[in-house]
Amino acid sequence: MLDQPKKPALQPYSGPTSPFALPEIFIQDAFATDDERLWCPMTPYSWSRPLCLNASQGYWVHLSKFRNKGEGESVVSCHRHPAPVHGFIIKGGWRYLEHDWVGSAGSYVFEAPGDIHTLVALADVEESVTLFHNTGALIYCDVEGNTTGYADVFTRIEAYAKHFEAVGLGRDYVKNFIR
Ligand code: FE
Repeated sequence: MLDQPKKPALQPYSGPTSPFALPEIFIQDAFATDDERLWCPMTPYSWSRPLCLNASQGYWVHLSKFRNKGEGESVVSCHRHPAPVHGFIIKGGWRYLEHDWVGSAGSYVFEAPGDIHTLVALADVEESVTLFHNTGALIYCDVEGNTTGYADVFTRIEAYAKHFEAVGLGRDYVKNFIR
């Protein structure tokens, strides 16, 4: 029997690279189980953990953690999206007052531009963790559609910077997540 040709050993890429390419972001433990300081409080019952804050394209990717405060308590108040959002529920679950589905671990949602919704916790879910990819802004509004405020990648960068400073990591810690 003839010898099989030997497969060449795997080689890492060693060709040219662009000096303009930005470095990757790698986060070993995105849940930050050993350092609660990486979770920025947004309300007394919700936290956000930044993963990628894209200042040049106006989007941000983060983990959103909600703890239950009882059925009917709004955890993200009513807001409109002018640009798309992708959400993937990793743990727990929640629903929108305006839609008839109930998300649970493993659920994916595409929030199309123009969608307006109010995120609420579920009575029987202690804690939820969701990966969100938000583009553009959340434009907060009342139930009649009057604008009451907004959040975008820049208000998020400022909120994380303030939080990291307050917990002793320093404002510049947020730069680890900015591209
Ligand atoms: Fe939303």
